[in-house]
Amino acid sequence: MSLKILLISPIGLKKILGADFFFKLPFLGLPTVAAHTPPDCEVKMVDERIRPVDFDADADLIGISVMTPLATRAYEIADEFKRRGKTVVMGGMHVSALPEEALEHCDAVAVGEGEKVWPQMVEDFKRGELKEIYQANQLIDLAEALPPRWDIIDKNMYSPVDFIETTRGCPINCNFCAVTQFYGAKYRTKPVHLVEEMVAKVKPVDKFFALKNLIFFVDDNIVANRKHCMELLNMLKSYNIQWLGQASVSVAKDDELLKLMSETRCLGLLIGMESLSEDTLAECGKRINKPAEYLEAVNTLHRYGIGVKATFMIGFDNDDISVFPKMARFITRSNFDSVYFSILTPYPGTRLFKRMESEGRLLHKVWEKYDTAHVVFRPRKMTVEQLEEGFTWLYKKALSMKSIALRLARGRTNPQFFLPDNLAFRSCLFRMLRGSKKD
Ligand code: SF4
Repeated sequence: MSLKILLISPIGLKKILGADFFFKLPFLGLPTVAAHTPPDCEVKMVDERIRPVDFDADADLIGISVMTPLATRAYEIADEFKRRGKTVVMGGMHVSALPEEALEHCDAVAVGEGEKVWPQMVEDFKRGELKEIYQANQLIDLAEALPPRWDIIDKNMYSPVDFIETTRGCPINCNFCAVTQFYGAKYRTKPVHLVEEMVAKVKPVDKFFALKNLIFFVDDNIVANRKHCMELLNMLKSYNIQWLGQASVSVAKDDELLKLMSETRCLGLLIGMESLSEDTLAECGKRINKPAEYLEAVNTLHRYGIGVKATFMIGFDNDDISVFPKMARFITRSNFDSVYFSILTPYPGTRLFKRMESEGRLLHKVWEKYDTAHVVFRPRKMTVEQLEEGFTWLYKKALSMKSIALRLARGRTNPQFFLPDNLAFRSCLFRMLRGSKKD
């Protein structure tokens, strides 16, 4: 009889602003874990955003992926399965940083990239020799990483977006980000012929519904390895697809890459601009960003028909209350097609978390509040209330109908994507504000 495994993606107890985006997006993690499961096992998956967990499910082994804001719910689920006598294992960035905490709720923890240790966990479980910690001692060669098993989710329940990964890792090591610790400081690349196998399965652009059949390249910086990116884009030229991705602002200086992006129907790039202050960027370790160049960089991308979703963080040690009106003025006169703000959040596993903890500045470890919409630490130059109120005020300004109309009119780039994007975030904002009044 084959081993039955149930993989679970928990939902946050509180809604994160924009968490559902105007898409319901599938996470890559568990379908990737499923692909690396020994072939004699039967794997099912539950995404709590789609349907509730059945605690009476016929499963021998329960696997739960844990990101920090979902940790509280993940532990609740684990406790309930344990109460019913099931074996529960966990993986993901949060439990990789805090395996001892996770072991209070489960039997074993995968520390680091799951692909390397998951098959061993399953084999040990079969033999009744499950250990508590499985540490991935080396990073996976992306040529060996199997494509995610999308057959374990009901794709009809999600937005028609295909998530594809072509690189992992980042050497920049910003103090608020766990990517360098988790995925390593070296850019690893997936051979383009393997990416092509996934791209070839994506349905072509839908003539009648512009937002259908998009690829989202999940790489933190798709242009990090220029040679690989050129090869990828040249491959994409043969396919009738459209795509979105994430890139550093430096992409604006590379006309050859932008031309290829335009030819391959890149609708937009998400760019982590983080701050308008050079001092803050130095503080967090992202010196590659030059705020004086932001608006011109966006103009350049627009000339190639590529829209920009700019993301910023508020609450750095250099930020005082003047950051809010300054940022609001900048956004109002900007040409950003879309903007996203988050409150600085010290996630376990980051340098920022270690520093805040050693300085005694963490307010609590109520993980569901680590969702970038709540303040979970004592800011240096303002109060907790000022940061929370300023964040909401700033979002209201940036997502006012006037600001949306002005920005989109200036950018005039892929409004079929960016207008719904802005309106969906605006609706999330007002839902969140209504929710917080009720709290
Ligand atoms: S925020 Fe981006 S640039 Fe900074 S470490 Fe993370 S992935 Fe790298």
